[in-house]
Amino acid sequence: MTPFSFHLLTPETGTIEDVSSPPRLHIPIPCHKTVVDTGMELLAGDKVAEARRPGEGDIHSPLPGKVIDILPESIVLETTSGDAATPAETGALADSELDGFLSGMGICTRPLVNADTLIINTVPTEPGITVGNALLAEYRKLVELGLETAKRIIRPKRIVMAAAKGNRINAFGGCSVTHIAPTYPNGLAPMIIKAITGQEVRLGEMPEDAVLLSVIDLYRIGRIMDTGRPVTDTIMTVGIRNLRVPIGMPVRFLLNQAGHSPNDGDRVVLGGLMQGITAANMEQGIHGTCTALHVVGRDAYPPVEDRFCMGCNECVRHCPARIMPNMISRAAEFKLFERAEQYYINACIECGICGFYCKARRPLLQYIRYAKRELALLRGACENETGGEA
Ligand code: SF4
Ligand code: SF4
Repeated sequence: MTPFSFHLLTPETGTIEDVSSPPRLHIPIPCHKTVVDTGMELLAGDKVAEARRPGEGDIHSPLPGKVIDILPESIVLETTSGDAATPAETGALADSELDGFLSGMGICTRPLVNADTLIINTVPTEPGITVGNALLAEYRKLVELGLETAKRIIRPKRIVMAAAKGNRINAFGGCSVTHIAPTYPNGLAPMIIKAITGQEVRLGEMPEDAVLLSVIDLYRIGRIMDTGRPVTDTIMTVGIRNLRVPIGMPVRFLLNQAGHSPNDGDRVVLGGLMQGITAANMEQGIHGTCTALHVVGRDAYPPVEDRFCMGCNECVRHCPARIMPNMISRAAEFKLFERAEQYYINACIECGICGFYCKARRPLLQYIRYAKRELALLRGACENETGGEA
């Protein structure tokens, strides 16, 4: 569907399109405790699951419906034509109340801490994902409202906007702009943080005294503040279109709406082609941070298999984290997870470039994520947690 390229330059995008409501939702509950029971009737916007860790963001039903099943990884909802829950009043919220309010409305508020520097990332995370540009073009007012709200919590002394050199984006008032070379993986959060602050951070971590928010983060916050309703959908690039997709929409239904019908053996990738995760099945529900869907033809790339490492070192040469994917993948292959730690697996930013260059077509990123998950479980992390996009 999307020819692969490392370039992060994005063309002008069309209007963000709505898709039809599906008859059934599979609302993912990655690391959450359900607060509904089978048989319950829900309004659109009703809370269905609470975060197990503070600041993760609760999950709400995008559509009215009846809970027909609760599976380990999702809540299954039969959609109906009911009403929406009453919106919250946002006008009188004190600054000190914003964090708890946004978290209750579905925002992961862990990055919203007091810091001197606020980085706004407008660089596409992966080639072909145009969601950020589409939101800036069509919903700039909501993005600005999100920025004003975030500033009330973060209280930054300076704001820096990271922009891909060559992409047409207007800066926000009071922002300086840092231009980033428009090549993958320069749009990933750890790379942007390094370019602006000089600090190297692990995936999911923030540097000292700086926070990074994407255009999508700001849009979600702005929409909550504007409507008083939780964010229950995600904007996704599918082919050359940007679609507004309710959380939990089954992959099959979304593909149908987008006019794609995969053939036997094709893979449906949720997220970008470098970092995305293949859908487990066609009924899997879209999760709230998914920003793209790709159909990869069966013969598009040579198959990835558990072949021996040839020791060519191509993966080491291209790794932006300057670690050794070959040694980490060998350790993971033989379940030597603590050995993988000794090779600095936690410095991996999961860009997927090593696997792209691997002459033996080893599943390097898959091994790395597998080992990271096993290590997290060893350290007592949430059992139901799943990986996702950066
Ligand atoms: S995914 Fe591979 S190339 Fe990217 S940082 Fe991790 S080890 Fe390095
Ligand atoms: S690119 Fe593949 S074959 Fe070459 S050293 Fe890395 S893991 Fe081994």
